[in-house]
Amino acid sequence: MAGAQQAQSSRPQEVDVVVIGAGFAGLHAVHRFREMGLSLRAFEQGSGVGGTWYWNRYPGASSDSESWVYSFAFSPELEQEWTWSKRFPEQPEILAYLEFAAQRLDLKREFDFDTRVSAARFDENTLGWQVTTEHGETVRSRYLVTAVGCLSAAQLPAIPGRDDFTGEAYHTGQWPHAGVDFGGKRVGVIGTGSSGIQAIPIIAAAATEVVVFQRTPNFSVPARNHALSPKRVAELKQNIREIREACRWTSIGQPYDLRDQAALDRPREEVLAQMEADWQKGGFEWMFGSYNDLLVDPRANDIAADFVRDKIRGIVKDPETARRLIPTGYPIATKRLPLDQGYFETFNRDNVTLVDLRETPIERIVADGVRTSGKTFELDMLVFATGFDALTGPLNRIEIRGRNDQLLREKWSEGPRTYLGVTTAGFPNLFMITGPGSPSVLGNMPTSIEQHVDWIAECMDFVRRQGSSLIEPSADAESQWCAHVKELADGTLFPQVDSWYMGANVPGKPRVFLPYIGGFGTYRQLCSDVAARDYEGFEVR
Ligand SMILES: Cc1cc2nc3c(=O)[nH]c(=O)nc-3n(C[C@H](O)[C@H](O)[C@H](O)COP(=O)(O)OP(=O)(O)OC[C@H]3O[C@@H](n4cnc5c(N)ncnc54)[C@H](O)[C@@H]3O)c2cc1C
Repeated sequence: MAGAQQAQSSRPQEVDVVVIGAGFAGLHAVHRFREMGLSLRAFEQGSGVGGTWYWNRYPGASSDSESWVYSFAFSPELEQEWTWSKRFPEQPEILAYLEFAAQRLDLKREFDFDTRVSAARFDENTLGWQVTTEHGETVRSRYLVTAVGCLSAAQLPAIPGRDDFTGEAYHTGQWPHAGVDFGGKRVGVIGTGSSGIQAIPIIAAAATEVVVFQRTPNFSVPARNHALSPKRVAELKQNIREIREACRWTSIGQPYDLRDQAALDRPREEVLAQMEADWQKGGFEWMFGSYNDLLVDPRANDIAADFVRDKIRGIVKDPETARRLIPTGYPIATKRLPLDQGYFETFNRDNVTLVDLRETPIERIVADGVRTSGKTFELDMLVFATGFDALTGPLNRIEIRGRNDQLLREKWSEGPRTYLGVTTAGFPNLFMITGPGSPSVLGNMPTSIEQHVDWIAECMDFVRRQGSSLIEPSADAESQWCAHVKELADGTLFPQVDSWYMGANVPGKPRVFLPYIGGFGTYRQLCSDVAARDYEGFEVR
């Protein structure tokens, strides 16, 4: 602690830019701003770099993006020096990669770790930000750049008696660094979203007994993860620049895109044969490299949903368990689609029990387990795989005050309002990397992060070249952007569903579709057009 305080006091209290967060976004932003010659301070509440991959150390935690694109595109050196071992990298490897990048680019020295930013206030007199940390330090900056992540505010369920449990209890997004020993334990897992679906097969292989508490059955697609051969690695390294450039312009920042073809225009047998071929390849391509009507036309979506339902029936031996696992009543992929490694197969194990909370809801958590309306399950450990207060949560947990002392979370009380998902009216010189209203979580996030960091850096440079010191979106531009984001979402099946994309997993959170769904490439072009028109929609002073 003495060391930390000493480090703080030797750092400048007045800088060009403050960056919050040391994940992909914060690391890239710090690198970029430093290269521009800006002075900066950077804060991270964790003890090290990595963001998502620093916190989510649960067994099975893995990227669903292919490793070779789930990485920084800005540095050809990093690309050539780092070698991924698998198609889908697992948490330890991604964390090692981010550690390597931070080391190689000498970024760690810029950060104050173990330091949560608790508040930030726009000062009308100095036209800059006053950023306050939990340790009571205040730093003044021209710009505030949040790189706080979209999925970094862990969400625990409001189940009565949650604190009464006397066994071990963990949230997947705040997993102990020392690891967890499941041996000889009866483990209850609450939640079957992406994290639960990744963790359950591995916990089941190690624990005496696993009870899965499922509120909503989830669709899932096999990852079919595999090692990358030296030949494949060489090919990827040789072609990586072209692969990256393609990713920048696809719908979801991945090296594939929706086909220029609708499922409903093709013969059913052809569509099913194509789906089977893609299923065998594994990965998101099955859905997002597929027909272009799956997420907009319920009849097309039904074909994909029925395909997965048949797969579940084929995998799960007990028909009653299969029935409970089969998702119904909502379109496939309108909740975040997980990739799995043997999730449905896990329910064929003798030590795994599925509890359908729609039939027997949880009444309360008790000292030694979980009591449902059917029975009490005695447990030694509870794993909360209950996700995050997505996109707005990490920002709203900071007391961010703009003009007239307006609190950001109050401005956003009926849903986030942004211009381009990166700025918000009344909060000058604030930039949010992958903020609400940007594509963010709807694809390969490093692609999105890179575009935001570049755009923000160029925007700051523009302001400087104007001899100005302040940039702020107009209320009109913001309103038009919010209407556009909503209109695009309303043209899809997404808003019909209770999902974290809609804020539905957090009690009291407004039901607003949070990301921009027009596609990464389209969004990139829109942002570039705004910049080319001298930052149309912004006031620069
Ligand atoms: C389990 C899981 C799997 C995922 N899989 C994929 C995937 O397959 N593909 C994909 O593209 N994306 C995936 N994501 C999304 C993932 O979050 C992003 O890919 C990426 O890691 C985001 O980087 P980031 O820097 O924007 O945010 P993060 O990695 O979340 O980093 C934000 C950092 O900000 C810090 N922070 C927040 N608030 C404060 C504060 N007030 N003060 C100080 N520090 C603060 C946090 O501690 C955190 O370290 C996944 C997310 C999770 C949780």
